[in-house]
Amino acid sequence: MEPTDGRDSRKFWLKAELHAHCSLDPADYRICPHSPEDLIARAAGLGYRVLAITCHNLDIWTPGLAEYARNRGIVLVPGMEVAADDGRHVLAYNFRAAPEELDTLARIRALSRNDTLVIAPHPFYPGPMSLRNRLARNADIFDAVEYSGFRVRGLDFNRRAAAFARRARKPLVGFGDIHYLWQLDRTFTWIYAEPEVSSIISAVKRGSVRMETSPLSWGDAAAWWASTLWRCAFGSHSAPRATPEPEVR
Ligand SMILES: [Zn+2]
Ligand SMILES: [Zn+2]
Repeated sequence: MEPTDGRDSRKFWLKAELHAHCSLDPADYRICPHSPEDLIARAAGLGYRVLAITCHNLDIWTPGLAEYARNRGIVLVPGMEVAADDGRHVLAYNFRAAPEELDTLARIRALSRNDTLVIAPHPFYPGPMSLRNRLARNADIFDAVEYSGFRVRGLDFNRRAAAFARRARKPLVGFGDIHYLWQLDRTFTWIYAEPEVSSIISAVKRGSVRMETSPLSWGDAAAWWASTLWRCAFGSHSAPRATPEPEVR
């Protein structure tokens, strides 16, 4: 943890990853070898203080997992990567809602509160999962725009996201879209906040953030695709257990 700058003794620059998947992911479990606990432990070892495990259409946050994270110095932010408006990915945090309640941008807008956070992930990456022009048309929904760490030098689909963020005066936040633990520590964001969920969310909304990013090498990207294709073909492990009943928090 970095020292405070004297403005507020309870606030610190907290190293954050708010876009990560794990072996419980209903969509990506074939790809992601690590359990949520593995992810938390590795992130803690790399000095992260804030983490959200954003499975596709599943919030795996539980008080027990949050405590596991807290014991390792990490604030676990509830959240998931929902599919809205026919599969467009949206990062939705702290809604305490089922994914079906967040399956359109209109519903996300209606359920947004001061203590929820919405980020546009990889908005201009190729593929039907990206928001593309829906981002500008629904700019009011989004508190921040992601600069995706899934990038290689010379091929960067983040330029339009950065330009949009500048134009729309939205914070630009760098996250790794972690599917493999080796992706950690390449692109991440420092958030100036108290180490608790509501302070972290309001800091992102305010833009009290600064990101650090370094591209993957072409070798890293090739390894990513090779492992991903291999795991999709043969599977690293079986499907995750049935979705547990959401716990009250
Ligand atoms: Zn995505
Ligand atoms: Zn993702």
